[in-house]
Amino acid sequence: MERRQYQTIVLGLGALGSATAWALARRTGGDVLGLEQSELSHVHAGAHDHSRPISLAHDDINSITLVRAAYRAWARLETERDLRLVHRVGELSFFPEGSPASLEAQRESLTQVGVSFEQMDGSAAMRRWTQFRLDESVTVLHQPDGGLISTSAALSTLQRSARQHGARLIEHAVIHDLHVREGAYDVVTSAGHFTTGCLILAPGALTNALLRSFGLFLPLRVIQQQGVYFAAEHLSQFMPGRFPVWRWRDNPTFAGVPVHGAPGVRVGQEGVGPELTHGLRLFEPDLGVQHRVSRFVQRLLPQLGPQLFCRPCLTTLTPDLLPIVDRVPGQANAWLAVDGAYGFEFAPALGEALADLALGLTPEFDMTSYRVDRVAVRELQPARRTPAP
Ligand SMILES: Cc1cc2nc3c(=O)[nH]c(=O)nc-3n(C[C@H](O)[C@H](O)[C@H](O)COP(=O)(O)OP(=O)(O)OC[C@H]3O[C@@H](n4cnc5c(N)ncnc54)[C@H](O)[C@@H]3O)c2cc1C
Repeated sequence: MERRQYQTIVLGLGALGSATAWALARRTGGDVLGLEQSELSHVHAGAHDHSRPISLAHDDINSITLVRAAYRAWARLETERDLRLVHRVGELSFFPEGSPASLEAQRESLTQVGVSFEQMDGSAAMRRWTQFRLDESVTVLHQPDGGLISTSAALSTLQRSARQHGARLIEHAVIHDLHVREGAYDVVTSAGHFTTGCLILAPGALTNALLRSFGLFLPLRVIQQQGVYFAAEHLSQFMPGRFPVWRWRDNPTFAGVPVHGAPGVRVGQEGVGPELTHGLRLFEPDLGVQHRVSRFVQRLLPQLGPQLFCRPCLTTLTPDLLPIVDRVPGQANAWLAVDGAYGFEFAPALGEALADLALGLTPEFDMTSYRVDRVAVRELQPARRTPAP
């Protein structure tokens, strides 16, 4: 007879859900069910692109600690599957004069936790990375461990490893009903009716849609960001090893990665794009963002062009852009994971933490910054809503 009862059920198998299923499967002998409403890799997932950066260059120590844990977790997965998912190509952070981003905060945090970096001015950086046009007023931090992660390989490897450790992952499982009954969670889906004592929600852009089952609503914004891909006459100059990942720390913020998975160089403006107010829909590129990115690229990377294509995808932003990993308010054993903005690089570390929480253990790093009732989120307090019919 088909199995219906599991120690843990994970809803949503993007990066966070798949990483959690992998961690739980290893620790529970595979007593975990993962349910994905769509196919396992699809255009509405937050990682719908060739790569995502991974970066230690954060302004706060907690984020650096989290990325360090993520590096360890990605390395564990790489060892388990004997392949390379994270490419350490180095990272440049550019601080133009008068930038609102704090160079001092980043320097101090990196120094305090013993992460190596070099500081130079724009002219020195340009001599080393000749692809950039910079002037002396720009301060540059180089962090050699920064890199990129192959997204689709990483996602399918997390899912494959979860299955190899015994997890059952079902795609195209649309949730019809979700309710609590005597301490257990009943999940009624198009793929069957399942029961668990522990539920983990990792539904990305559909977080609030799922939280309605608990009468909750969080102050999240779902935006459609986009990566813009550019051609170059000498694309070899922009390959990993010659060209780093980089972030222009100003308002607006831009970021880019070397050639990976596509015959072009990706550049994006961070944290902007049309907001999705309900449901998911197919994307149209945002021409305003495309135009701003192009103008910026003409100044910073004049060897790039013309534009090749745009890769829009959804990001779920919390008010302070940090993840949420916490108990669902009012629930004994339901847990929530929301990416915040940079959820891909953190995913396997947060997956381990969620597995710890679900199993009643203490995660290896301090989770206070990721609580659902932290000030930045609480100011826009989770509101009780009428549960969905
Ligand atoms: C342009 C851009 C740049 C980015 N840059 C970075 C970066 O530099 N570094 C970084 O780390 N991250 C970055 N990100 C963010 C990162 O890609 C996402 O944070 C991450 O992929 C989100 O993973 P997730 O698992 O939370 O969500 P998703 O990948 O969206 O997964 C959620 C899954 O849950 C499923 N689902 C939803 N509801 C249900 C339900 N009721 N039942 C079953 N399944 C359900 C969905 O179908 C989906 O597959 C960027 C994102 C974009 C768009």
